[in-house]
Amino acid sequence: MEYISTRGDSAAYLPSEALIKGLADDGGLFVPKGFPAPFDEKALKSLADKDYGQLALEILRLFFTDFTETELKACIDGAYNTEKFDDPQIAPLVKAGGAYFLELFHGATLAFKDMALSLHPRLMKLAAQKTGLDKRILILTATSGDTGKAAMEGFCGVYPVLVFYPKDGVSRVQELQMTTQEGEGLAACAVRGNFDDAQTAVKSVFADKHFAEELASMGVILSSANSINIGRLIPQIVYYFYGYFQLVNGGEVELGEKVDFCVPTGNFGNILAAYYAKKLGLPVKTLICASNENKVLADFFNSGIYDAKRELYVTNSPSMDILISSNLERLLYHVSGEPTKSLMESLAATGAFRFDKKTLENEGFIGLFADETQSADAIAELYEETGYIMDTHTAVAYDAYMRYKEMTGSNTKTIITSTASPFKFAKSVMSAIDMKYAKADDFALIKELAELLAGDVPAQIDGIECKPVLHDNTCDKNGVKEFVEKWLNDRL
Ligand SMILES: *Cc1c(COP(=O)(O)O)cnc(C)c1O
Repeated sequence: MEYISTRGDSAAYLPSEALIKGLADDGGLFVPKGFPAPFDEKALKSLADKDYGQLALEILRLFFTDFTETELKACIDGAYNTEKFDDPQIAPLVKAGGAYFLELFHGATLAFKDMALSLHPRLMKLAAQKTGLDKRILILTATSGDTGKAAMEGFCGVYPVLVFYPKDGVSRVQELQMTTQEGEGLAACAVRGNFDDAQTAVKSVFADKHFAEELASMGVILSSANSINIGRLIPQIVYYFYGYFQLVNGGEVELGEKVDFCVPTGNFGNILAAYYAKKLGLPVKTLICASNENKVLADFFNSGIYDAKRELYVTNSPSMDILISSNLERLLYHVSGEPTKSLMESLAATGAFRFDKKTLENEGFIGLFADETQSADAIAELYEETGYIMDTHTAVAYDAYMRYKEMTGSNTKTIITSTASPFKFAKSVMSAIDMKYAKADDFALIKELAELLAGDVPAQIDGIECKPVLHDNTCDKNGVKEFVEKWLNDRL
């Protein structure tokens, strides 16, 4: 298997090379050249009773063909185990409110980013050996809240990591998770601005050729932990199969019966992995792409027009507060079979592009969105009906799922990817359940939430408010490069 750019550059790269490069030279994203053949029913059957690690091996070996099975197995065993995850199933499926919640938040940082970021650094390290890389890697990443902490956890002890987050665009717990992170070679810095500002600032550091030369002379190259890297995308395919097989094994569907997936979406990485799973033969009918008030994707699926020229709102589901949804480019490439160069040029020049809406529908995609009130109501309703408490991102998807059922009368079984623990967003979640909580402090509410659930505060964040802040940094939008330079100079 080789990887090529979405934008038409003909150079093809081995998986290990694509992992290290991150982005193609023409600015495109790497996609598999020649997708693996789909699993047939017999193959699906043989996968159905595998545990998470065994299943991961069967899927990852199709995409990381220049890794040996022994190497992949070592990466997988190190990533998905009960030291790293607080549930032995890794990604358990919970039935509530007529849907099935695939809980992807049992890792080190309580968000679904752990699913990929516990594996990605291990793959990177091997890839650096395989490609004979003679420089030290520095991971630079912009985060809307969850990637930052997950990257610090995942890369700690492997490569140094600098994360940049929007100063007023993350939850209190998300911020503390980053600023209290211990370990060598890690730093977090707040950028004055919103997520798109932070992301643009970090991207411009990556695009700065002069800076790259300066770094190279110090023996350093930059790499990103963002979801455009194939090391983030491919591991996410696994849990779609795993969730489906839990339905089969629980007698909820017959093997081969199609299901829907409903995914709360920001940068389009998670739902793209669902699409890859479908291409690999997973029986999927509809892929519901759920947006929050930053509904650029919902509008796109409904009109065929992608229009990022709008205000970015800060919502209670901050990890989805994004207007430039990077991974969408890969979908456009796959469904049109054509390079995305002109679409992306149009996006860069005018902030918008147009695409054939029918083609997207034919692939099973629909887009819906939930505003702040609708998603808060969804949390309260589901809690009152079932006692199950979901986080604010998952609530966007649950609301979209209910609306879809109402609109279409569909009774297809639906898996909702549950992307964060409610404890991470305790204040928004508790205020949705009862306005009396709106004035209380985040950490008091974490304890109240544990009481409502008759359980303990997850060890991952227990006592976080008492930990010393180790990373107290702030910079301007155009101060990211300076921050990186200073950080390196202090250490070289
Ligand atoms: C990152 C994130 C999302 C959005 O995922 P994408 O892959 O960017 O679409 C949704 N929910 C949570 C909690 C997240 O951290």
